[in-house]
Amino acid sequence: MAEETTNSSSNFIREMVKADVAAGKHGGRVETRFPPEPNGYLHIGHVKAICLDFGIAEEFGGVCHLRMDDTNPTKEEVEYVESIKNDIKWLGFDWQEHLYYASDYFETMYECAVKLIKKGLAYVCDLSPEEWESYKGNLTVPGKNPPGRERSIEENLDLFERMRAGEFPDGAMVLRAKIDMASPNITMRDPAIYRIRHAHHHRQGDKWCIYPMYDFAHPLEDAIEKITHSLCTLEFEIHRPFYDWLLEALEWENPPKQTEFSRLNLTYTVMSKRKLLELVRDKHVSGWDDPRMPTVSGLRRRGIPPKAIRKFCELVGVTKFNATTDMAFFEYCVREELNAEASRYMAVLDPVKVIIDNCADDFVDELDAVNNPEKPEAGSRKVPFAKELYIDRADFMEEPVKGYFRLAPGKEVRLRYGYFITCTGVDKDADGNITAIHATYDPATRGGNAPDGRKVKGTIHWVSAKHALPCEARIYDRLFTVEEPGAGDTDYLTQLNADSLKTVQGFMEPALAEIATGTTVQFERQGYFCKDQDSTADKAVFNRTVALKDSWSKKAK
Ligand code: ATP
Ligand code: MG
Repeated sequence: MAEETTNSSSNFIREMVKADVAAGKHGGRVETRFPPEPNGYLHIGHVKAICLDFGIAEEFGGVCHLRMDDTNPTKEEVEYVESIKNDIKWLGFDWQEHLYYASDYFETMYECAVKLIKKGLAYVCDLSPEEWESYKGNLTVPGKNPPGRERSIEENLDLFERMRAGEFPDGAMVLRAKIDMASPNITMRDPAIYRIRHAHHHRQGDKWCIYPMYDFAHPLEDAIEKITHSLCTLEFEIHRPFYDWLLEALEWENPPKQTEFSRLNLTYTVMSKRKLLELVRDKHVSGWDDPRMPTVSGLRRRGIPPKAIRKFCELVGVTKFNATTDMAFFEYCVREELNAEASRYMAVLDPVKVIIDNCADDFVDELDAVNNPEKPEAGSRKVPFAKELYIDRADFMEEPVKGYFRLAPGKEVRLRYGYFITCTGVDKDADGNITAIHATYDPATRGGNAPDGRKVKGTIHWVSAKHALPCEARIYDRLFTVEEPGAGDTDYLTQLNADSLKTVQGFMEPALAEIATGTTVQFERQGYFCKDQDSTADKAVFNRTVALKDSWSKKAK
């Protein structure tokens, strides 16, 4: 798999790294990083970045660091740090001993700020945020130099030290880089690099009351870790001049180089952590790992194999153009992988009883069933057949329409892996609902073929009633009803799909009792399902991973 994800499709970043290595840049060393802010769970967009960061390092014999970008004091939580580590491991990537926390560099960052001040390249600005608004200008109007810009180096050093010592309240002043208030790139108009925040930090405690701004911290984190290629998403493109300015101002040797690529967007879902957090907090979903969520933990609980996610990211590719990928394409990748790997079983999710009248009460036949026709080494299993069965209601029609080849009065069908049965009648309750179907079986058709060569057009799945295990199937569908939730001025919460979860009770074949939580199987003719952690000894719970076919494109026709 590593071969596949890293080598089969080229992209501009891989070509760039290849050229850098060939030119002996950084001594031919390749070191990348994945820098999540631990303020939420990872989503499939992050996976695109993870595949790229770890994939490039792997391909060029380098390492990829996992760096918790925890410079923001109020938001980070230990729970998020743990989930991020767990998700990356599950995806199949390894940061080896290179786990870092940006907050561990606070002292060095402070020293870098002092160095800038000493070079006359940073100053303390005590404009209020409102006042700053009137200085910074806009896209068409250049900014004006703020009053503090001409402060002496000594005064700046003194003020900055006192900021650190806690003499001033939040927001009283910031430290700014002294660049160019008239720059056409607004991020170069004396950006704030330190702010005062009297806030507790999850690792640093109350040691600091000034915190570095992202644009200042990030290049330093990369430089301190000797990153060679810093890969990030396109929105950071306009911040690159500052990234380069800062490392040059600090006279950093062999500075890292930032390269941007487009974010992954998917239809029918949202990807921003703020929105995902809102869905969790306001209980629109059951948690970060709700199988409808685009989070890694949600995809895992839904039963999607990590290999399918990696393959998807590879096929989406790495470009400079923002685009939205169709959810159907993701589901296609999931089906491709599961078709090759998932074992097949039978489960009846809308059961109706079938009584085989010519079968003895104590008759049990253990039939052979192939586990995966795509994978002979997956072997076979036994499926018990007996007098009373369950089949799906949709596989019986009392008055069959034209072209209906499943069970109907007087009609014969094949039971998957089993016998031909012919319907002889139905039992009904007082309201006319069918309570049981009567049938006879032909013992000569064991294994699914008639010795006289007669054919049946329909094959249906079934389970033996007395051997079956009760199961609950959670049928998940897309979380939103529209391709682009929240587009325009619409509140994305009004576009939630009310039918995104349907729970049904059914029966499944006994062999499924043995499979481990988290295993994804195919329920024949119905879709792929993953055994959920909510399963108990009395009842198995399965989440639908994906339907067998793309029902959405059918709907569109
Ligand atoms: P969000 O917008 O969801 O809050 P973020 O970019 O703030 O995400 P970070 O934790 O800072 O989240 O992201 C870590 C890394 O993952 C960054 O390098 C970022 O560029 C990358 N990343 C985040 N979202 C995507 C995405 N949709 N596609 C590709 N890469 C992404
Ligand atoms: Mg971010």
